Amino acid sequence: MSAAPAAAAAPAVVERGASQRAAERIVCAIDTGGLDEARTLARKLAGAVGLLKVGLQFYVAHGAAGANALAEAHGAPVFLDLKFHDIPNTVAGAVRSAAAAAAPAMLTVHAAGGAAMMRAAADAAGRIADRAGARPRVLAVTVLTSFDESDAAAAGMAGRIGDIVRRAAALAQECGLDGAVASARETAALRADRGPDFTLVAPGVRPGRAPADDQKRVATPAEAIRRGADYLVIGRPIIRAADPAAAARRIAAEMAGPP
Ligand code: C5P
Repeated sequence: MSAAPAAAAAPAVVERGASQRAAERIVCAIDTGGLDEARTLARKLAGAVGLLKVGLQFYVAHGAAGANALAEAHGAPVFLDLKFHDIPNTVAGAVRSAAAAAAPAMLTVHAAGGAAMMRAAADAAGRIADRAGARPRVLAVTVLTSFDESDAAAAGMAGRIGDIVRRAAALAQECGLDGAVASARETAALRADRGPDFTLVAPGVRPGRAPADDQKRVATPAEAIRRGADYLVIGRPIIRAADPAAAARRIAAEMAGPP
């Protein structure tokens, strides 16, 4: 008789553990201009998502002091998504400045900046230890998830998006970068190409019936995990929810559950 409750309780414990591990792989994009709003979100999302992603909208308004305020409210270093794209010397300087000012866990550069620029970014990151003693991981943005084939062609990119993304990730790895940002539609190929240690971050993730917004290469959380993404970047479906932490927890459950 007494065995039944214990047996029934066990899956719930396993499920909570799986959901928590899934939550650590959610990167919430804090795409808002308001410092107070962002700080409140950061506090609410402590424990519900692993990382907060600080992008251009927030950073241009509030800089490193703002990013540090979010890291403090959330209790973890931020993901600094400023997508550096300039000459190698300038990007190396930007990586040094970003690491010194905001100590991010990860930061991004555009693969379109080329091999010399990516090498300069990797070298700069390698020389700077953040406050926790670990260097930031530098990731290459391959092709924006708001692009489909016709957008890529109109922007002068030659070939199919899947091939462009694979070439960009190969070059990024060759240049010493730690990983790449690509849609979940490409992560299975990238995982096979680049091996288990190359960090793959997938934006364009939309749970269940959430609107795609301006994203075109979208996937659900379960699909993104199944296709080999390490981290899922999710912004509007969480930050625009009436209860952002609850929205994040539902997504984590979806990631941990059957695909
Ligand atoms: O709100 P949503 O979930 O679409 O937010 C996605 C986030 O990921 C945005 O902050 C966007 O800048 C970023 N991103 C992207 N596609 C990439 C790289 C980054 O959407 N390839």
